Amino acid sequence: MEEHIKRLLGQVVHPETGEDIITSGFVEHIGAADGKATVVLRFAKSRDPFAVKIKNQVESLLREAFPGAEVLVVVKEGGQPPRPEPKLKTATGAIAKIIAVASGKGGVGKSTVTANLAVALRNMGFRVGVLDADIYGPSQPRMFGVEGYLPDAVEEEGVDRIIPAVAGDIRLMSIGFFIKPTDALLWRGAMATNALKQLIHQTKWGTLDFLLLDLPPGTGDVHLSIINELKIDAAVIVSTPQQIAVADVLRGVEMFRNPNVQIPVAGIIENMAWFTPEELPDNRYYLFGRGGARRFAEEYGVDFLGEVPIVQSIMEGSEEGRPAAGIDPRVEKWYREIADKVVGKVMKS
Ligand code: ADP
Repeated sequence: MEEHIKRLLGQVVHPETGEDIITSGFVEHIGAADGKATVVLRFAKSRDPFAVKIKNQVESLLREAFPGAEVLVVVKEGGQPPRPEPKLKTATGAIAKIIAVASGKGGVGKSTVTANLAVALRNMGFRVGVLDADIYGPSQPRMFGVEGYLPDAVEEEGVDRIIPAVAGDIRLMSIGFFIKPTDALLWRGAMATNALKQLIHQTKWGTLDFLLLDLPPGTGDVHLSIINELKIDAAVIVSTPQQIAVADVLRGVEMFRNPNVQIPVAGIIENMAWFTPEELPDNRYYLFGRGGARRFAEEYGVDFLGEVPIVQSIMEGSEEGRPAAGIDPRVEKWYREIADKVVGKVMKS
């Protein structure tokens, strides 16, 4: 099967080099095992304008050639990026930076942003994990198409280690693999915190440059104890234009700035910032006002990390378990800008 994959890849031409991607040296890894075909592409340039197009091409070639097989094409760019120093030693490796993604309210796209940011960081060549800590509505398994995953435990050196799901080279652990969301309503801060601490320390993450933590929406005791205990390096706040004017977002920022917590807020992301209809790609409709997050950022001394419009591919990507930042070049560009800023801020801290 590997040889067959190689032959297929030999048909894909990079428009700039004018040669196929194998000759151009863009194929880093080909794997074929257990009914799964894996290809890792690495482009010399970061932001190769043809990266996503070639990825899609390779995916459809593989799907066509191996119907029924699971097809995974991962895109990486540039050489190895400068990596953050490993800080938190876990039982299974080291995690360099833990970044929490928070929102004042549910439904603003916090989980969608987490998943797409994870994909953007992975495309930059970082080793990325996602811990879905949203005890009230864990949605990362759906975002990455691994619902129903049942984490196995293995014993190593007398300690139980939990095996994360892996989707597109991203390691994923979700509180949703273990609990029903209806149970979570009864959870108190300490219970949630203990369970999440265990998931951070006992999951077999391997070495990670970034662990993204999808927090429950809102602010409250559960949140305070979670963020206080989990050794978070930075927080990213997600808001929509409608929500930005509401006190929840400010409460979210203040939660991290609480004297007992003092976690740096890397900045705010405005999600669903505008709408562009397919047939009028140059028109932007700011249905709920414009520039709110920027103004908020200035007023409260928070950085503005970027904005993402309402796009059908983003919604579909979360439904289909393939975050749009890995498929749609426009979405990948918005998220890359955000990821660049987040990395810049977190590397310094
Ligand atoms: P939260 O985690 O804040 O509760 P979700 O990430 O689950 O919110 O998003 C809520 C809904 O909005 C989902 O159906 C998601 O697909 C959709 N969504 C989020 N961001 C966008 C976007 N930029 N464009 C289109 N749909 C989006």
